[in-house]
Amino acid sequence: MMDDRQGVDIYIEPGLPKRGLNWTMRSTIVACAILVLLIGTADAEQCPPGALGVSRTLVVDPHEHPRVGSMQYPETLPLNDHEVVLTFDDGPVPRYTNPVLETLASECVKATFFMVGQMARAYPAMVRRVYDEGHTVANHTQNHPIRKMSAAQAAREIEEGFASLREAIGDPQAVSPFFRIPGLLRQKSVEEYLAAHGDMTWSADFVADDWTRINGSEVARRAISRIEARGKGILLLHDIHARIVPALPEILNELKSRGYKIVHVVPAAADRPKTETSAEQWVAHPTPEQHTGPSQTRPRRQGLSRRHGQ
Ligand SMILES: [Zn+2]
Repeated sequence: MMDDRQGVDIYIEPGLPKRGLNWTMRSTIVACAILVLLIGTADAEQCPPGALGVSRTLVVDPHEHPRVGSMQYPETLPLNDHEVVLTFDDGPVPRYTNPVLETLASECVKATFFMVGQMARAYPAMVRRVYDEGHTVANHTQNHPIRKMSAAQAAREIEEGFASLREAIGDPQAVSPFFRIPGLLRQKSVEEYLAAHGDMTWSADFVADDWTRINGSEVARRAISRIEARGKGILLLHDIHARIVPALPEILNELKSRGYKIVHVVPAAADRPKTETSAEQWVAHPTPEQHTGPSQTRPRRQGLSRRHGQ
């Protein structure tokens, strides 16, 4: 988050005489200090020159739209053409989440992190860092089961996952009511449980196969080709594999050069009204096949379901 302590330091700069300053000198010093403080604050809020940045924040109400992601659902986020939402699953793990956060910060973009409760318990400081840097903290179960869950198991995994995240941050309001089912193994009973509890189930609009044995450049190439085929949407990535570290800067650079914008998604709250949208904007239209090249096969849903997130 913003750090304006640099500006404050001017008051205790060593070498300044502590006595014998006349009023004008004192005023000048105070004025300079205020100026430095203001400039410092502005710098801290500014993105690096040429950064991609967040073009807008989308505030959503899970009660109105409980399931999103065209890979599995008839609705997806109401994005405009050339808008992308970044999501990261399965972390946090310091080795990869830290460099991911640094890359996101270098481009001044915000993402949604679907975290595993066990990981949050192992690395609570990482959860706080993600939150403190302005990203959306979301739930991906407590233990990341790789098979379909019974209704009772799902309820336990969901609630324990939320509890672990809330405990790591220390503020129940800090955790969004966003949830992604491990392996995208959707089930009606789980989706109904989530909707009944005001939680929003997130699928995705495209994946980049970053859990398979491909290198970072190939992850980036697949991400970009699928984004281009659809023109907008939710990108699913993972921050538990080494290949995300070289892949992410490539993805962001490519998005920037192709004129894409990054949208940050947050839940509606009492003091944060939802973004006004029309029902039509939520309709998930299929990817136009004519834009998909022969070498860019679309992810197969069943194969994806089994292997995603391993
Ligand atoms: Zn996962």
